[in-house]
Amino acid sequence: MIVIKFGGTSVEDASAIRALCRIVQDRVGRHPLVVASACAGVTSALIAAAQAAGAGSAPEALAGIESLRSRHFAIADELLEASAGEAKNQIARQCDDLVHLLRSIAVIQEVTPRLLDQCAAYGEAWSSLIIAYALRERGVGAELVDARSVILTSDSFTKAEPQFDRIAAMAAERIAPLLVHAVVVTQGFVGATEKGVTTTLGRGGSDYSAAIFGAALGAEEIQIWTDVDGILTADPRFLPEARLLDEVTFNEAAELAYFGAKVLHPSTLLPAMKKNIPVRVLNSRRPEGTGTLILAHATKVPGTPVRSIAFKRGITVITVESTRMLMAYGFLARVFEVFAQQRKSVDVVATSEVAVSLTLDDNAGLEELTGALSVFSDVSVVQGKAVVSVVGEGMGRSIGMPGRVFQALGRAQVRVDLISHGGSEINITFVIAEEDIARAVGSLHEEFFGQEAAKKGPGA
Ligand code: ADP
Ligand code: ASP
Ligand code: MG
Repeated sequence: MIVIKFGGTSVEDASAIRALCRIVQDRVGRHPLVVASACAGVTSALIAAAQAAGAGSAPEALAGIESLRSRHFAIADELLEASAGEAKNQIARQCDDLVHLLRSIAVIQEVTPRLLDQCAAYGEAWSSLIIAYALRERGVGAELVDARSVILTSDSFTKAEPQFDRIAAMAAERIAPLLVHAVVVTQGFVGATEKGVTTTLGRGGSDYSAAIFGAALGAEEIQIWTDVDGILTADPRFLPEARLLDEVTFNEAAELAYFGAKVLHPSTLLPAMKKNIPVRVLNSRRPEGTGTLILAHATKVPGTPVRSIAFKRGITVITVESTRMLMAYGFLARVFEVFAQQRKSVDVVATSEVAVSLTLDDNAGLEELTGALSVFSDVSVVQGKAVVSVVGEGMGRSIGMPGRVFQALGRAQVRVDLISHGGSEINITFVIAEEDIARAVGSLHEEFFGQEAAKKGPGA
């Protein structure tokens, strides 16, 4: 079997879903499990409605849902024939339930992460329902399975952790038997706790769902269908000259996703890697392309040790300086203990004799964190930074690499705040000001992928 996941733009309207049906029809012989995202923009609209209700504004919240109801009705009307009425009835019932939920939230005037997840999950319910009807009308035997009956997770709402062993058992029981005679359609992004309470895997989490399902069912391949040709040498929306990569290793893709390449959710690669299942990223608007294949060992691009460049905005740098109340050997341990207690993961670390600088990509709980650090150190916080990561397997062993990276940054007049290199041989990562991203990425891309780059060769 294979898993085929469609992202938001691949299900955004009737014509996108028609294209999706053709992609599925061409692969029926491979026993696909279709994992659907919500139609583009729907998850954000649902979260906005829940937040409006939480702020006590029921009219705003309900107007948001009415607009989502009409959008899905319009897709059903355009895409479906005999089953349009049935599909719309089901969508209407779900919208009515959601309206009740939002009214209650508006009365209490508080929206908890648990309620946010319950609201956010509707987007995938609607898109998967429409897809299942559309496939059936096109002669494909499609079964709709509620992902919440398979993807069992922790109760860390909005960032729930999958319970892999339980999921494997549930997938074997609920999905594998259906795949023998039908295409199974399910939702990405959502799961449920043991008690059946809806959870989500975090924004962009449908890619992760696809990998979790693929690992649980021992898929031959996990296909991620999106709005770009595959993984490119940089984000093509940001740098139009970026080039398509035929192959990327699991480690490279994981690193790129972690450092901001939105094309894959950062957790996607781990389940695939553990089971050694190849992941292919493809363009649903150009299904004839071969996309990018992600696997354990990938062919190197001749002439450059770099595979791709990623960046992430909205980075906060925290510098923690020892007040010398602690001996040096106790200091770092204590700093990291605070980060662990606050469940904060750090991207880049640089240390000196008395200070350590660390970066965070999310400011939730920042005050508690700095409060806990201030007990034994002087803390300073700088926001509005970016991390840029130059990624390529074996890069760390390539002589002259840091030189090439920092010369390119120097030529672009970019000041570097922090550098992290050597922790792994796969990337060089550094922190710069957000406003320097375009110059930094442009210059690095030119250095490693521009016309002159091939002539220079690795580490030249
Ligand atoms: P989907 O809704 O299909 O999950 P996303 O918007 O989450 O799609 O991810 C696709 C986007 O990822 C692309 O439109 C592109 O702008 C962005 N992206 C960032 N870095 C890269 C990269 N290196 N290669 C390809 N796409 C990238
Ligand atoms: N629909 C969810 C989101 O927008 C999950 C996804 O698209 O991957 O975050
Ligand atoms: Mg995505």
